[in-house]
Amino acid sequence: MELSSRAKGIQESVTLRLNSKALELTESGKQVFNLTAGQLPFRPPLDFIDSIRTELDFLKSYQYSPVAGFVELRKKIIFHIEESRGIHFSNTGIEFDCVISNGAKHSISNILGAMLNADDEVIILAPYWISYPEMIKFYRGVPIIVQSSIYEVFTPSINDIKKNISPRTKAIIINSPNNPAGIHYSEEWMSEFGNLMLENPDINIISDEIYFDVNYYDPKPNYYYQKYPELLKRTIIVDGISKAFASTGLRIGYCVGPKDFCKGIENLQGQLTSSANSLIQRAMLNYNFSSSSQFLNPVKSYLRDNVNIIRDKFKDAELMKCWYQPTSAFYYMIDFTQTPVFEKFCQNKNDVTDYSYQICEEILNDLGVVIVPGTDFGLKNSARISLVLQKEAFSEAMDRLISYLTNKQK
Ligand code: PMP
Repeated sequence: MELSSRAKGIQESVTLRLNSKALELTESGKQVFNLTAGQLPFRPPLDFIDSIRTELDFLKSYQYSPVAGFVELRKKIIFHIEESRGIHFSNTGIEFDCVISNGAKHSISNILGAMLNADDEVIILAPYWISYPEMIKFYRGVPIIVQSSIYEVFTPSINDIKKNISPRTKAIIINSPNNPAGIHYSEEWMSEFGNLMLENPDINIISDEIYFDVNYYDPKPNYYYQKYPELLKRTIIVDGISKAFASTGLRIGYCVGPKDFCKGIENLQGQLTSSANSLIQRAMLNYNFSSSSQFLNPVKSYLRDNVNIIRDKFKDAELMKCWYQPTSAFYYMIDFTQTPVFEKFCQNKNDVTDYSYQICEEILNDLGVVIVPGTDFGLKNSARISLVLQKEAFSEAMDRLISYLTNKQK
C-alpha cells in the first residue's frame, strides 16, 4: 500500500534503530545499560493512584468527557499554571482557556495543526526535542533551526534567533527546562527573549514547559511572560502529568492559551481524536497538584546524585571540557568533539560530518551502553544520556562510557 507523501516525509528516529540493536544484544545474553529512558523509574504519587482507584467506580469515568476536557479540571489547571508561574491571565484583558489532550505531544501537535499555514516558518532552538521538526513539516510548515553549543551551555543566543526571523516566521517554540540539554534558560535570557518578541508582534510563542516541576538546582525555571505579561496574549503554555506525576503512560497533557485559539484547537481535537481519558481527568480533579512537589523531592536528590557521579568521573578522567552544570529535566548532553576518541572519527579541521550515530553504535557494540545520538536533537557529534538509571548501574555505565571516550577501553 502506497504511503502519502506526507507520511513518507516523516523521518524515522535514529534512536529507534539503536534501541532495536540494544534489544538484540540483550536477547543474546549481553549486559546492556540503557541510558535512553525519558521517564522516571517510579510509580506516581500514592494519593493520585488512590484517586484513580476511587474513580474506577463511576460510570462517568468510562464515558466521553467534553472535547476540551472537564470544565472544572480546565479551571483547576489554569489556576495551577497561574499559581506555579506567578501570573494572572486576567491582567492581559483577554480570556484564556485550557484544552486537555492525550499527552503534551498531542497538545503540541494540535497547536501546530491549528496555527500553521503552508510554508509558515517555525523557529526551534537546538538542541531540541525530537518531534518538533517532524510535526512542523507534517503540518506543511518549515522548521528553522537555531544552533547552540556546550560553550553557551546549550542556550542559543538571542542574536542568532533574531537573524533567523523572517516575514514568514509564524511561531517560535521554546522548551525550558530543556530536553535534551537538562538546563533551563536564565532569567536574563528570558528577559532578552521577551524584548525580542515585543519587537516582533506577529510571532506566536509555544512554551513547552513539560519539565517545569523537574528542577533540581536553583534557580527555578522562569519565563519571559512573567516580566512581560502582555506577551501571554500570543503564548500557548504546554504542560502535563507525564513528568510531574511520573505518569507517561496515562497520556494526559494540556495547553493554556487565548480562548479564541483554544477554540480552534478544540475543534481540531473534536474531529480528529476526541476528548482525553475521562478516568484520569476525574482522578486529577480530586488530586492536589501541589503535593506532587513533595513526591518529586526524592526524585530530585536521585538526579543530583547521578549528576555528581558524572562531574566526579569527568574530573578524574580529565574530561572537564565536556562538563556543564545540568539543573533540570533528566538528561545530560555529551559533546564528543571535546573527547580524545573524536580524533579517530574526525578526518581534519574542516570535516563537518556528524559521527553521532557511528560513535553511539560503537559504544553500544563494544560496551553495552545505549545512549541517544545528538542527530535526533539537531546537535552534531553529541549524545544524550538519561540520568534516571539506578546509582550503581549508572556509575558502571559512566565508567564504561568514559573508558571509551578517553581511549582507555580494556
Ligand atoms: N515535550 C518534551 C520536551 C518532551 O520531552 C516530551 C516527552 N518526552 C513531551 C513534550 C511529550 O510529553 P507527553 O508524554 O506528555 O506526550
